[in-house]
Amino acid sequence: MATQQGRHFLHIPGPSPIPDRILRAIAMPIIDHRSAEFATLGKQVLEGCKTIFKTSQPVVIYPASGTGAWEAAIVNTLSPGDTVLMAETGHFATLWRQIAARFGITVDFIPGDWRRGADPAAIEARLVEDKAHTIKAVMVVHNETSTGSTSRIAEIRKAIDAAGHPALFMVDTISSLASVDYRHDEWQVDVTVSGSQKGLMLPPGLSFNAVSEKAMAASRANTLPRSYWDWQEMVKINAGGFFPYTPATNLLYGLKEAIAMLHEEGLPAVFARHQRLASATRAAVKAWGLEVLCENPAEQSPVLTAVMMPPSHDADRYRKVALEKYNISLGSGLGKVAGKVFRIGHLGECNELMLLGALSGVEMGLAAAGVPHRSGGVMAAMSDLSESGRPAGNIAAVA
Ligand SMILES: *Cc1c(COP(=O)(O)O)cnc(C)c1O
Repeated sequence: MATQQGRHFLHIPGPSPIPDRILRAIAMPIIDHRSAEFATLGKQVLEGCKTIFKTSQPVVIYPASGTGAWEAAIVNTLSPGDTVLMAETGHFATLWRQIAARFGITVDFIPGDWRRGADPAAIEARLVEDKAHTIKAVMVVHNETSTGSTSRIAEIRKAIDAAGHPALFMVDTISSLASVDYRHDEWQVDVTVSGSQKGLMLPPGLSFNAVSEKAMAASRANTLPRSYWDWQEMVKINAGGFFPYTPATNLLYGLKEAIAMLHEEGLPAVFARHQRLASATRAAVKAWGLEVLCENPAEQSPVLTAVMMPPSHDADRYRKVALEKYNISLGSGLGKVAGKVFRIGHLGECNELMLLGALSGVEMGLAAAGVPHRSGGVMAAMSDLSESGRPAGNIAAVA
């Protein structure tokens, strides 16, 4: 590949680009993780995380990718032979299901077509049928990163309550936290799973479990073995600002900076910016004459847009052409939509002009790869952005 000039356009839906401020915060000398100086940092990030998850309950931080926090949620709450209810929203829901199955959990998997979020009515119906309360947990992916569909978590909470069912509620927010409105306490989620490299704008390597009192009680009674992931030990030692094993100290410097940046912009403004960029992206896709994978407008993701390729055109060949010619990385199709979709990430450190640059790369890439489309997508996105109006700063001032 020829050398590329200028900045690489990283528009995969995570890892997302890392702001220079965060890179600088991470590039500091490591400190003693048993020192008083560390305890101050530990307390700051453990408390700061609560403001992002919107909880007053403990948030556990692991030096692990998101997959580790998926496993932690399972091994801390469930026992072999338990049944859980999940919804097939896409590839990530399918992976979480596989992990549960490996631990001897029976998964009732509500089938889906990968073009929408989890259906609250279907969840309610399953829970109503379960008179004996054999279902121990409802587990849902908030933003299904493989398809660009979000699930309506507040409505699923209402569905669980309407069924009068005592199941734990566990939500994967790995790609939605700090990009899409999320409320751990208000929505009475028992375990919120998240990760560092998407909306939090950090490198990969940290993941999270926000834990309700009900989930903490379940972790005192369940029988799946665990050691590294154990909440009890973690929470006890976190009280002093420390961790039971060596934490990812420099990523915690970055986390502190990320939390500060999110509050400087204001979470409502962060969420509005993601909505605005997603809307402009969909306007471009429509103008190209292509189709967005998520069919339900109410569930189209603010984080990424998955675009369907015209039949008989390979998405991965197209992505390769765009990368080689225009230095832009787009997300691949995963699982059963591999080769059939490409994904445009518009999360984290992204603004109007960065998005328009990326959409220009997508559009020129379509032409270069000979993919049938109409031109004018970038113009449509510009027009959508000027209609949807004010820059983020003004929205924060109004909110
Ligand atoms: C990225 C992602 C994961 C996997 O996280 P890793 O950090 O790759 O282990 C799981 N769920 C969702 C929704 C994701 O977007």
